[in-house]
Amino acid sequence: MQILKLGGSVVTDKDQPFKPHTENIERLAREIAASAPQSLVIVHGGGSYGHPVAKKFSINEGYKSPDQILGFSKTHQAMIQLNHIIVDALLAAGVPAFSVSPSSFIVTEKKRITTLDLSIVIKLLDSGMVPVLYGDAVLDSHQRFAILSGDQLIVKLAKYLDAKRVILGSDVDGVYTADPKLVETAELLRVLPISDVTGKVKIGEALSTDVTGGMLGKIMEVSEAAKAGVDVILLNACEPGRVQAALRGEKVIGTTLTR
Ligand code: ADP
Repeated sequence: MQILKLGGSVVTDKDQPFKPHTENIERLAREIAASAPQSLVIVHGGGSYGHPVAKKFSINEGYKSPDQILGFSKTHQAMIQLNHIIVDALLAAGVPAFSVSPSSFIVTEKKRITTLDLSIVIKLLDSGMVPVLYGDAVLDSHQRFAILSGDQLIVKLAKYLDAKRVILGSDVDGVYTADPKLVETAELLRVLPISDVTGKVKIGEALSTDVTGGMLGKIMEVSEAAKAGVDVILLNACEPGRVQAALRGEKVIGTTLTR
């Protein structure tokens, strides 16, 4: 059982609203097909689809005004559009992809998952299909609605589906000592003990300066899966061949989280 997360930075052009990264999507679909995975769930991020709409209507802050109700639907719809493109590409490559909306089986409370019914996802896997999920606009029992990140979702999936490996594909080679897009001298950490993250021993300072970057939050989230014994690998999904190699269990450039 493997879980592959494709970041919004991989499947969309984050600088242009509603712009899919078609080249990456089609190449990754071929890589996934070529790796012939036994049991796989794919989760993708929102990138330039979900995020601009969610931001416009302040969906993650919960209900404050009636116009947000239309915004909630529009955020979900934006994600369905992106999901449609990704599932189409997977089907064209011969992967038996099957779209599942997280908002139809998950409820959060103060943005954290409290209700989760994986019975359909499990049945799809048992039938040989590849469920394709995404970060979604979800109902929240405290604030009416919220944004569920793909990163929070994959940790729950890893735990309840007893995953062996979680692969997080982003647009950088892995976790660096600082944001590699801002700091030229940043070094790639091939292995990252989660105690270094939570205890802020070695890289805490470098990472915590990057609060606007998405990497620290991502690691804090997925370190839960590493703690539970799941292999967690962060890699560059924009570089051809890396996702395919990781899905095959081969050694690949990236960062492995260790306990
Ligand atoms: P995705 O959309 O792929 O899920 P994000 O864009 O949210 O990912 O986060 C990845 C980004 O985090 C990278 O493009 C990078 O600019 C930034 N980042 C910040 N700090 C770091 C770090 N220490 N190591 C690697 N990337 C970092």
